[in-house]
Formats: sequence, C-alpha cells, structure tokens
Amino acid sequence: MCSAGVSADVPATQVKMTTKCSWTCLMDRSHLKWLLLVVVTLLLIQYIGNLLVYKNFYNVTQYFNGVYWLGQAVSGSLYGVHQKKMAHILKVNGTLTTLGTNTTNSNTTVSMDLQTTMLVQPNVTVTVDTSTSSGKDGNLCPSTPPGLKGRIVPDTTAATWETLQAKYSTVEPGGRWRPKDCTSRHHVYIVIPYRDRDEHLRILLNNLHPFLQKQQLDYGIYVVEQAEGSHFNRGMLMNIGFIEGLRVSNYSCVIFHDVDLLPENDNNFYSCPQQPRHMSVAIDKFNYRLPYASLFGGITALRVEQMKNVNGYPNVYFGWGGEDDDFSDRVRSKGYQITRYPAEVSRYKMIKHNKDKSNPPNPVRFSLVRTAKSRFKVDGLQNIQYELVKKEERPLYTWLNVKIDEKKVLQTSYMNQFKTNPWLRNILKS
Ligand code: UDP
Ligand code: MN
Repeated sequence: MCSAGVSADVPATQVKMTTKCSWTCLMDRSHLKWLLLVVVTLLLIQYIGNLLVYKNFYNVTQYFNGVYWLGQAVSGSLYGVHQKKMAHILKVNGTLTTLGTNTTNSNTTVSMDLQTTMLVQPNVTVTVDTSTSSGKDGNLCPSTPPGLKGRIVPDTTAATWETLQAKYSTVEPGGRWRPKDCTSRHHVYIVIPYRDRDEHLRILLNNLHPFLQKQQLDYGIYVVEQAEGSHFNRGMLMNIGFIEGLRVSNYSCVIFHDVDLLPENDNNFYSCPQQPRHMSVAIDKFNYRLPYASLFGGITALRVEQMKNVNGYPNVYFGWGGEDDDFSDRVRSKGYQITRYPAEVSRYKMIKHNKDKSNPPNPVRFSLVRTAKSRFKVDGLQNIQYELVKKEERPLYTWLNVKIDEKKVLQTSYMNQFKTNPWLRNILKS
C-alpha cells in the first residue's frame, strides 16, 4: 500500500507532499503498471519482429581497406537496425582468398568484385578474386584506392564559387574528372535535384570533389535545377538528370544525391554493386540510425540498367514526400535487394535547413504511395515530359535548368482517382 503523508499542522497553502513508497507499492500505482506492460510489450514486439525479419542470406561488404564483413543481413526491421549480427570480420590479403562461411556444406562458388556488396545464400562459399587488375587493361586503378582514411569530418564552411574553382582547377568543365595515372574501375555520375540552395551546393561540392577523387572514380556531376512556376518535384529531377547525363557519357552507374548530405566516411564507395545500394543510412539528423527498413531516400546508387528496368522514379509527386518510398517499392518489386554498408561507413551529416517554400508536404503522398504499384509501368522514365531550358558546363558541375508543366504531368488518366483532392483540384484549375 502507499503512504503519502501530509503533515497536519502546516497551513493549506504550504502543504508539502511527502511520499514514502516501496517497490511493491510503486507497482500498485496503476499507471506504472501500464507503463511496465507497454515497455514489456514493446520489447517483445521488437524481439519477435527481429526474429521474423532476418532473411536467409548473408551480406558480404567491404568495410575498409581489404577488410570484409560477412554478416547476416536484415531485410526489414521494426527498429531500423540494419546489419545486426555481423558474423565475422575478414581480412583479404592473398590474390585469391576464400572466405568460408561457417556452413560449408555446399560447394557453390561466387566471385565478387572487391568493391561490391553482394548477397549470397547461406551455405555458399564466397571467393574473393583480387586478381582483376591483371585483366584487359593492365593499368586499372587498384581495387582498394590508396589513401582512404575511413572517418572524415565534413567541411561545412561555405566558400565562394571563385575559391572553389581555384581549389578544384583539375576538374574539367561540366564537373567531370578521372584519375590521371590509372584507369578508373567505375564510370559514375552524380545527379543532384536542386532549387535555390546555392550555399548547400557550394558546401557539398567542396566535400564531394575531393571525396570522389580519393576514390579514383571517373565521374561527372549533374545539378538539375527546377525552374520557377511549379511545386518542387524531386523524382522528376532525378529522372531528367539520369536521361541527360547519359547523353553526355556512357555511364554505367548513377548516384542520386540530395544537396544537403555530406559523407562522413571515405570508405563509402560511390560505385554500383550488383544490387541497388542505399547510401545515406546513418544521418546525424536521425541520430545515425536508419529510420525505417525500406527507406531508399537521400542518396541511392543504381546501375544504369537497373534504373531503366524499374522505369525510374515516379513523376507524379509534387511537393515534399512519397517519391522515395514509391521508388523503393519499384526497386524491390523488380526483385532487387536494397543493400547497405554498415552504419559506421554510410554516415552523413545533413546541413541544417528549414522546409522550402515551393516544397510543402504533399497531402496526397500517402494515397499515391499506397497505389504506387498500379503506376510503375506507365509513370516514370517511359512517359516523362519536360523542357530543357538551358544546359551549361560550369566549372564544377553541369547545370541543367528544366521546366516542368505540373498541370500536364498530373492531367493523366491514372491520376483521375485523386482529382477530387483539394490540393490536386487547385493545381489543375490554376
Ligand atoms: N531540394 C532543393 N530545393 C528545394 C527543395 C528540395 O534543392 O526547394 C532538393 C535538395 O537536394 C534536398 C532534396 O531536394 O536535399 C530533398 O529535400 P529536403 O532536403 O527538403 O528533404 P529532407 O530529406 O530534408 O526532408
Ligand atoms: Mn534535407
């Protein structure tokens, strides 16, 4: 029982509560009982949830120079833990190293590029072949670039454009660069959706150019700016950058990159493994934890063929939100597995910002994501329409200024079911 006492000779205004209460008494208080019940239930859900979400595959990931993680990957988790239960940390030093899983009762052999993340079935022996540099081109850059440091601290000062141009004078017009002394293993382009974030762009480029150069990539940077007159459409800008970049060069790998994310670990390779990769897993804004398992926003890496195969991003999401979840569904519905580096490697700092005026949360995003599957084939790269107003090869990036006719994009038969929504009705009548 509880004994909460009030001393009798104290005037009412000075009444002090003194509480003496044992543990069992605490438990008698009904709200504490409920709290305990909720906590226990949550822990139980987490435990059962995690049991359910472990999928039957192993994930081999290059962690840093020559060190590999072989872990049981989690394809979904209620609490955002992605790669729990890393089983081994393995060093690779020979030309042909066999990384045996604990279960070697199968003789299947899988070869892998040293810089890829790949998924293998349990009971599969993984063979890492480090001899690729003796292929057709004897001058290939090393599979593990020298001079990578691991954890790096992003520079968040906003230098002027002049300073940046002088600093990165070896970058070719249009923001292209490749290593001089060896042939890069990766031909990559970065697509940045953009409007009115000049300072963020300067900060990002000041971090990204040295980062990509250290990784010895053959790369180009494409900033796709949406002209005024329509709500911001991140998905369409990704699609446009993807299409326009391929007109410039025969890239094999595309990285879609928000302007405000700065990498904090240079082992986070900007290359495309066999499966699409979610790059921005651990962001400071979310306490370096993945907010939910299917998340495929911020920064993503796909092979060009994979992007084409999923029909790109959706075009119908104007305003903030939804397009990344739709894209995640597209990718997974094609049977791809979203891969991720461990949180230590896929770390990012997000430059602090407020919500942009032309990018208010889209009130139909939930309904759109719910019905996304019905539009995978009809809405995307396949039907995209935009006007390329201007294209400039600026010193540190290629600038694409594009105009999007919001009304036209939304006036399609597959949007009919949403036309009673006030937000859409308003756009369509304007
Ligand atoms: N963006 C932009 N201008 C805008 C709105 C968005 O450049 O007015 C781009 C920018 O690359 C940004 C990305 O779209 O990083 C995602 O938008 P936001 O940062 O608002 O979303 P968050 O992920 O922070 O919720
Ligand atoms: Mn942001």
